[in-house]
Amino acid sequence: MKRKILILISLQLSIYSLFGQNITGKWYEIQDPNADFVINIDKINNAYSGIYNWEFRDGPSTINAPIESVILKNDSLLIAINFSNFLLNFKLKKEDSTEIYKGFFYLGSRQLRPVTLSRSPIARDMTIAPIVEKTYTRQDTLRGKITDERAWWNLMHYDLDFELDIENKFIKGSNTITYTVLESKNDMQIDLQEPLKITKVVQAGESLSFTREGNAYFIQLKENQIVGSSKKIEVYYEGNPKAAPRAPWDGGFSWEKDANGKPFVFTSCQGDGASLWWPCKDHMYDEPDNGMTISVTVPQEFTAVANGKLTATKKNKNGTTTYQWTVVNPINNYGVAINVADYVHFSDPYNGMKGTLACDYYVLPENLEKAKVQFKQAHLMLEAFEYWFGPYPFYEDSYKLVDGVAMEHQSSVGYSGYINGYQGRDMSGSGWGLKFDYMLIHESGHEWFANNITYKDMADMWVHEAFTTYSEALYVEYHYGKKAGEEYIKGISHIIENKIPIIGDYDVNDKDYTQDIYQKGATILHTLRQVINDDEKWRAILTGLNTEFYHKTVTSAEVENYISQQSGLNLKTFFDQYLRTVQIPTLEYYFEDNKFAYRWINVVPGFNMPIKVKLDNKEQWINPTTNWTHEYTKETKNELIIDSNFYVASFKNMKNK
Ligand SMILES: [Zn+2]
Repeated sequence: MKRKILILISLQLSIYSLFGQNITGKWYEIQDPNADFVINIDKINNAYSGIYNWEFRDGPSTINAPIESVILKNDSLLIAINFSNFLLNFKLKKEDSTEIYKGFFYLGSRQLRPVTLSRSPIARDMTIAPIVEKTYTRQDTLRGKITDERAWWNLMHYDLDFELDIENKFIKGSNTITYTVLESKNDMQIDLQEPLKITKVVQAGESLSFTREGNAYFIQLKENQIVGSSKKIEVYYEGNPKAAPRAPWDGGFSWEKDANGKPFVFTSCQGDGASLWWPCKDHMYDEPDNGMTISVTVPQEFTAVANGKLTATKKNKNGTTTYQWTVVNPINNYGVAINVADYVHFSDPYNGMKGTLACDYYVLPENLEKAKVQFKQAHLMLEAFEYWFGPYPFYEDSYKLVDGVAMEHQSSVGYSGYINGYQGRDMSGSGWGLKFDYMLIHESGHEWFANNITYKDMADMWVHEAFTTYSEALYVEYHYGKKAGEEYIKGISHIIENKIPIIGDYDVNDKDYTQDIYQKGATILHTLRQVINDDEKWRAILTGLNTEFYHKTVTSAEVENYISQQSGLNLKTFFDQYLRTVQIPTLEYYFEDNKFAYRWINVVPGFNMPIKVKLDNKEQWINPTTNWTHEYTKETKNELIIDSNFYVASFKNMKNK
């Protein structure tokens, strides 16, 4: 009896090993509802190989690509594939007595998604959702276009002065706008968003009439506007400003409390625009050439912090204090902010490229000890970024970190967190992301790309976010070496979505961007550095951008042209491909006898990016175009590996083999 059972067991075991472990043939991934993943495994001379197809409902697909490796070990199945130049590892285990392998796939050590491979496909709806044409309203145009009522005058200075009634969440004040006349006109557009109201407009002592269309006010000027003359206009306003539903992404006033229960108030308005809380020319193309004065009156127990340097503090008889802050450089409108709390102040000046930079820190009492440790990174940041981008762009206005919401407020960077990583997480999965405080480093990086070099139109927002995200990798490189920087950028590259192009719609303040303006933008800058293949030239370009466009507003095209000129390369198709399409350039290639043939597919016409590859482990550059190039070699080549610093995909054409 015992013997019989043993035989049965061993029989079952041998059936299991005979049939259960045969992995050749087709496997279907059945967990992801949005992608069809099919893998076809071959066995030749006892070694596994194969091809895979990965088709996405809403993204570029990879068809008929070779698998890097397949390893079967007992009930474990390890598959490595190269997917758009990322090496992904599937680590799977056989489910008991079924033809199913379950597990996860990984990028490096980072676990990405669960995976189930089955012999039978599941039904998926892979119909691509039709691209909906974005529609815009007249309000979008009034907000996003350089209208006739804006174009004729040039901003010179803002003098914003208001009282903040914290208890009633109410503001009341004025903005005196100094401008020069470029063209003689009498209709002036000033923006202020509901529920705030402009109550009075005065020029040369005379009250002016105005009409309102949504958030745009049209003021009828009485005085003759002579070309070249300098004029002032006073705009009075008041109301309960919008409370921020989700600062900083959905901005307004945030009415918080500190650990002692005392009010802690701050503003944020990126995308929404500064007219969310003060009347201004709410378009990014024009900045006040001579800066801005911000006077904020608050109850005496609070400190009000704004941009620039504190130039006056006045105690008023009614128990309030007026803080006057002065910005002497041009300032972009969403970069203007106020922060009000029972702040503690300390400073830590920095000896930098342009002399002594005042570094002032305003923190809530409960954060003082943490801040003294965490803010040491500000000097590390300044050292790294002055090396890569040139001098900090606002020495005259100082550098500040202020407890509030993490946002690149010019010379008064909003900060929160007191933890390394992005809210404690390493977005790159490389380990390097935990070596620095994302909020401090990223938001400060914007002083160069956002505040020094500012987009004219939100459609070009990548100029702010891509370069600043890239600055994180440069920070890592400066302090931990080039390899570390590369690992960091490759780690964040995996977040790329490719759903819509990076460049948005112009003249409508298009806020409909995706994360790609950050990680994809940074990744293509890293790819561009490989193409330029000269680190000193690359650094000169980054520094040069900050000189060429010092305190200026720019278009993406101007930035692209500058890099083209300085690199000596025509990068038009490079930028068109990566910024204006969602396609990943794909190197199609095959080997045949002594021939190695390759070309770019999935690209804009004329795309011709050179690329570094390893051909049978020998490094070389190739210059593919959209036409086939045939190279002849002494012996047959078998393996092509593209340098992983390039953001591209590859497709080994097996039919031509
Ligand atoms: Zn940013």
